[in-house]
Parts: sequence; structure tokens; C-alpha cells
Amino acid sequence: MFWQKEIETLSRDKLSALQLERLGRTLARVYERVPFYRKAMDGNGFRPEDLRGLKDITALPFTTREDLRAGYPDGLLAVERTEAVRLHTSSGTTGKPKAIFFSRRDLDQAAELLARCLVMTGTGPGDVLQNMMTYGLFTGALMMHYAAEKVGILVIPSGPGNTERQLDLMRDFGTTVLHITPSYLLYLADYLARAGLDPARDLKLKRAYVGAEPYSEETRRKIESLYGIDIYNSYGLSEMNGPGVAFECAGKQGMHLWEDNFLMEVVDPETGRPRAEGEAGELILTTLNREAMPIIRYRTRDITSVISEPCACGRTHRRITRIAGRADDMFIVRGVNIFPQQVERVLMAVSGVAQNYQIILDSYDQMTVRVEIQREVFDGHVEHLIRLKNLIIDRLRSEIVVRPEVELVEPGSLPTFEGKGKRVIDRRTM
Ligand code: ADP
Ligand code: ZN
Repeated sequence: MFWQKEIETLSRDKLSALQLERLGRTLARVYERVPFYRKAMDGNGFRPEDLRGLKDITALPFTTREDLRAGYPDGLLAVERTEAVRLHTSSGTTGKPKAIFFSRRDLDQAAELLARCLVMTGTGPGDVLQNMMTYGLFTGALMMHYAAEKVGILVIPSGPGNTERQLDLMRDFGTTVLHITPSYLLYLADYLARAGLDPARDLKLKRAYVGAEPYSEETRRKIESLYGIDIYNSYGLSEMNGPGVAFECAGKQGMHLWEDNFLMEVVDPETGRPRAEGEAGELILTTLNREAMPIIRYRTRDITSVISEPCACGRTHRRITRIAGRADDMFIVRGVNIFPQQVERVLMAVSGVAQNYQIILDSYDQMTVRVEIQREVFDGHVEHLIRLKNLIIDRLRSEIVVRPEVELVEPGSLPTFEGKGKRVIDRRTM
């Protein structure tokens, strides 16, 4: 099923031509209206009319979060403030917030993109979507809210938290679709188990849109089997509308990035140089269809790679692979670069492991992984526990090279998260 079949299946040639035309318009717009970008282009001796091909964009400098913060509150605005109708700030996981403005047209576009995602994964009128992302300054919930209404889906704007009430809503209104963070979905599974509820028997859930933070394929599989539903990966960031930038189709092999609205590049996160096609690196995004606040060559800090092979679903917009992590989340132990997702991937594939874990960094040559294990295992034979612990250590060592300390802890004993999780506790002094 398609929401906008023509644009979703546009031939690559036409899509590139559309991108070039929109890039040209965007550059002209910011050159004229945003001093920050005029200065950046002048500084590089580049004028919007010099644009010949999409590759020419590499002549322009990146926009970083620091640039957005420096422009706070409205330095990068390309319209009069009176033309903006919505303000969002990023949730500020990694520092001070950044303010993003949207015009009426921008919001409509953002909703169109997410409507494509909903319909692409089989959600439509008759479905009931429980929106368990945070409403408010964060883009996650509101963008999904309006998109779902546009498609004709009944939306329950529950926001996160108050898990008992969430369950009541799910049961009373027959929720079929969840929009939720992986951390909260994992916690909810635990909660259901403790309440003696079986999602397949007691709830009407069919699928969940899961994003806002990195999680591994192993976690997806684990959640899918715990709930007996389809989990679709949803990627976005406030600077680029929030959710709906890239989304999995039914094939679940990478996320289609809506290239009529975003131009993507993948670069070496250290040097900023382009990566070869298909190679992993930092995702750089340029808005191609934004009015209030276009952003050029934004450094997302998110690590991914581009899948150029055509997708079986017929959509021509290229896919990106699951985000391997944020460049900023990477930590170093014994000189080895480690992403939290590598640890998560190992843990979630071990049977006996429950839903929650924590990584503690006390020194530069040792890390401790605390992992909750299932009740029956925790209360069971001590030899079994030792075997499990050794198995986890071995598997982690072969994934991350470093041999970690592992502590098996009681289910429910580690901090839980209703939004994005915080799993790495770094106690080292910088
Ligand atoms: P921040 O958390 O940086 O303040 P946002 O709330 O806009 O800002 O979050 C966007 C970020 O969340 C992305 O840049 C990315 O790091 C992460 N993210 C969002 N969706 C996903 C996903 N599906 N997989 C991995 N990471 C994601
Ligand atoms: Zn597809």
C-alpha cells in the first residue's frame, strides 16, 4: 500500500532531478534570507547559481549542532517569525537544546512523510495507534499524532509513563499499533510478564513503530517474539522534522529515507570526507523541502550506511541501515572503540537474559556490564548462573575484543526508562 505512490516510486533519474531542483531552490533561499548560510557560501566562494549537480554540495561547509545552538533562538530562520506556526526543541540528550521552527507548509510536509510510513507498514483507518512518545517540545509524539490523524487512524495521545493506565487504554480501546522507544517497550514487556498478561492473548497489538534511540536487530527480534507483533524501525531527528525521515517497509531490510525531502551523504566522522558507496559513516542530511528553517549538510552524528539496491516493495528512495550508534556514544576501553549497541546486541541474543542492562565505566581499561536475568534463572541453580555469566563474558569478548566484568542482577533492579534510555554510566574523569 502506498500513500503517495507516484512520488514513492519515482524513477531514480526523476528523483535525482527533483533533488537537484529543490536543492537549488533551498540554497537560493538560504543565501538570500539566512546570513549564517550566506557567509558560509561566500566564505567558500560558492554562489547558489554555481550548482550544477548534487555532488557540488560538498563545496559547502557542514552545519553542526553547535551552529544551531549558536543561532539560538532564531538565527537560522528563513521566514519572518510570524510565518512560523510551531516551535520544537530537540530533547537535548547530548547538551543544550536546539530550536527548530516550522511553517504551516513544513508541518504539512512532515505529516505527509510520516503518513507514507504508516501506510507503507500496513496501518490505516480502523487501526488504533497509542502514541507513547513524549508530547511537548520533543517532535516524536506530535509529528506522529498529526500524520496518523491525516491517514484516518484513531490516535490515543497517551504519551509515555503510567504503565498501568497505558495497559487499560490498550485493552479498553483495542490498541493495534504502538509508537514507542525501545527502552520503554522492553520495560513494558517486563511489566506485562509480571502482571501475568500475554500480549498475544490479552491485547490486540499488531505492530509497533520503534525509534528515537539506537537498538539492535537482536533487540527487535526479542521484542517481536515477546509480543508476537511486527516491529518497524523508525528514524528521525528534530532538526529534520523528527520521526519520518527514514522508516522500514514491510521487508524490514533497512529504512527508506525520503529522498525527495532530504539529500543524504555519508562521511568519515573524523575527517568529514565522503565514504565510498555502501560504506558506514556519519549521516549528513540537507533539507530539500523546508520553508521556515532549511538546514544544509547537517552532521547528525549517527552512524549508518546506504543500501542502493532496489527494494522489493517498489519504493525507489534508497534505504539506510539500522543506526549503529551515535558517534558521540562511542566509548573507549583499552584503546578499543565500543558502541553500546554492540553490548546490547550480544545480551539480547542470550537466552535467560531479561530486558535491562547497564554499562559502567570506572576506568579506561575495565568495563562492567550489569544485566538483568529472568526470574526463573535468577532463582535457579548457582552452577547455571555461573555458566550463563561465563557465556555472556565470552560472547561479549568476541564482539568487542575487551573482556568485561559481568554482574547478573535480579529482574527489575536496574533503572527503567519511559523515554530514551541511559545505559552507559561513565564515571571516568575526562
Ligand atoms: P537529541 O536526542 O539529539 O536531543 P532528538 O530527540 O531529535 O534529539 O533525537 C534524534 C536522535 O535520536 C537521532 O539523531 C538518533 O541519534 C536517535 N535516533 C532516532 N531514531 C533512531 C533509530 N531508529 N535508531 C537509532 N537512533 C535513533
Ligand atoms: Zn521497501
